[in-house]
Order: sequence, then C-alpha cells, then structure tokens
Amino acid sequence: MSKDWNKSTKAVHAGTRRSQYGEVSEAIFMTQGFVYDSAEDAEARFESAGPDEFIYARYGNPTVAMFEERIAALEGAEDAFATASGMAAVNGAMMSILKAGDHVVSARALFGSCLYIAEEILPRFGVEVTLVDGADLSQWEAAIRPDTRAVFFESLSNPALELVDIEAVAKLAHAAGALVVCDNVFATPIYSKAVAQGVDLVIYSATKHIDGQGRALGGVILGSRDLIRKTIEPYMKHTGGSMSPFTAWIMLKGLETMRLRVRAQTDAAQKIAQELEGHAALKRVIYPGLPSHPQHALAMAQMGAGGTMLAIELKGGKEASYKFLNACKVGLISNNLGDAKTILTPPAFTTHQRLPQDQKDALGITPGLVRISVGLEDEVDLIEDFLQALSN
Ligand SMILES: *Cc1c(COP(=O)(O)O)cnc(C)c1O
Repeated sequence: MSKDWNKSTKAVHAGTRRSQYGEVSEAIFMTQGFVYDSAEDAEARFESAGPDEFIYARYGNPTVAMFEERIAALEGAEDAFATASGMAAVNGAMMSILKAGDHVVSARALFGSCLYIAEEILPRFGVEVTLVDGADLSQWEAAIRPDTRAVFFESLSNPALELVDIEAVAKLAHAAGALVVCDNVFATPIYSKAVAQGVDLVIYSATKHIDGQGRALGGVILGSRDLIRKTIEPYMKHTGGSMSPFTAWIMLKGLETMRLRVRAQTDAAQKIAQELEGHAALKRVIYPGLPSHPQHALAMAQMGAGGTMLAIELKGGKEASYKFLNACKVGLISNNLGDAKTILTPPAFTTHQRLPQDQKDALGITPGLVRISVGLEDEVDLIEDFLQALSN
C-alpha cells in the first residue's frame, strides 16, 4: 500500500489480503483456528507469530487484520486492535494501561457506559478518577497531577455536543507523563486528526459510523505499534473482547463507503441545523457547524466540519419533545447513531435516564432535549418532517 494514498483510496484498498482465489471483495475467514505444517511450525508460531501468521481468532484473524490495517491507515495511526464492541475498546484501553494507585482525569460528559467505567469499575480496582468539565481547560490543568497516568474524554460529547480541545489537553497530559485516551465516535474517523493532535489511544465504537447501517456491534483501539501490540493486545487477547471475523467483514465494507456517508450526513445536518435555528418552538439548536455554537471556531479547527449529530431543545419540555418525537414520520425513535436512517432520542429519558437530575442539569440534558443522528434520507424530506412535527 502506498503511504501517499489519500483517505478515500486507503478506505477501499488498505489492508487487503487476497487469498489464492484472487477475490475482489474481501474474504471472511470464519475460522477460530489455523493449521500448522508441522509440530515445529506450531512451536515456532507460538514463540513469535509474523504479521500474517495466526494462532487463534481471539488473538487475531486475517479478516480482522484487514479491518485493523484499513482503519489504522485511515486514522493515520501505526496500528489498531479490533474489539467486540465500542465498550470492549474503552474498557480494554483503560484496563490495559492502568493499575491500582494510578490517577485518571476524565471529562464528565461521557456516554453512560463510559461513565460507569470511570465512576464504578476503575475505583473498584484502586484507580482514582477525577471528573472535570471537559470544555474548561483550567479544570484539566487543576486536576492533572504527577501521578496522573491517563486522561480520558469524548472529543465531541454525547448528547450536548461540547468539544474538548484535544491539542491543549494533550499538552497538559503529556507534560505530566499521562497518556491521552480519546473516545472519538462523534468526530468520526473522517474528521479526526486525533493522532496528530496528540492522542495516544483513539477509540471508536465501530457500531456507529463505521458500520453505518445499524447491523453489528464493534470497536477499535488505535495507537502506536508499541502501545497496541505490547500493552493493548496482551490484555485484549487474554480477556476475550476480540472482534468476530464476520463483524470485521461488515466493518471493512462499511469503511469503503464511510466517507461518502459521513459527508452527506454532515451536509444534511448543517442544512437542518440552519433551517431549524430560530424556530419559535425551540429554545436552541446545538450544532458545532453553526456560528452560534460556543465552540464553533474550535470545531472548525479541530474537525473542519460540524459532524453528523445535532441536538434541539424544545421550549415545552418533556411534553413538547415527546409530541415532536411521536409526530416525526421519517426519523425513527431509537438510540443508535451514525446510521443510514435518521435516529431521534430524548437523552434525559433514554440514554441518560439513570443520571441524577443535578448531573443532567450540569450536562445540559434537559427534558426538552432531542438528539438527532442525521441519516442518508433527502434533507428536504427531513426538514419538512421536522417542521411539521414542530408545528404539531
Ligand atoms: C456507542 C458509543 C460507545 C459504545 O459503543 P458500543 O459499540 O455500543 O459498545 C462508546 N462511546 C460513545 C461516544 C458511543 O457513542
């Protein structure tokens, strides 16, 4: 593979391993084991397996390796380890690099399961976690200490779409010798420059934009070859969070069309946000691509676009948001994101239902908030649908 290829070319060709049949579309190696030519061969492979030598699918598999190489090429990372889900990736990354006595600083605005790891699991194993407002650099500065081993954040938060200034936080973390772990799902690999911005471990839930068609759970951890193969892989391969070859094939095919999908979804999200901003029934429209977003300049510098997600807050609270949701005919009420189908959810009552009210308030998760994952439908139809549902 040429290092000079652009992202679109890499998304289609990087990592391809053709079998003796010369297939065009990648093969699914649906096998957990691999046969050795001799006993000596088996011994040698267990001692040291080459990049195209496999032992057991929990350790690695040709189809999974194709996905890992392709997403690493796209992300501009040296290497990747594919996982069974996004949460297997988050848990695996944190458990691989941390031990009892370590300190972690994490942004408070996290996906519910990520918050569970930070607040419940890590402290159980003697890791101290300090939660900060991720958008406030002074809080990161105050919380990071000499014994801080890692910082963790979502670069673009769910559902309030706040950004963390990756470069600035990475500088603070690295000065203290801490690793930077970034859940980059909302930014998508298309708008990510996370490695160049100083992230040591980039994490995606492949369930979202990488699949992009709502079919399978998956995840990936990306970073330097050293970190991935010497720190992440030993933990992952011995604890069972590896990706299935069938899932890897779905994700490989997803990568081929991801750029087209994400760009189309972003264009539509931008138009929808512009169209809905200022609507009489809305308190606000939250979209990083709007100049009214408090971190619009950072979003443009960090991602170069507003992304595929937006949120609207209805003036009439829960009653109004439910009325809106129930009146939408194109968008579906569900909780996945990055899908070809537009998906709507009221986070206060679904994804963030269990958060105490004071935390919901601090994160802007109000009863009137509706998160919108923009799909691939015609934006004219979507805008028309949202407007009729708002006028209900
Ligand atoms: C969905 C999601 C996850 C978890 O991914 P799964 O594939 O569902 O395990 C983690 N972080 C963010 C930001 C997500 O959106």
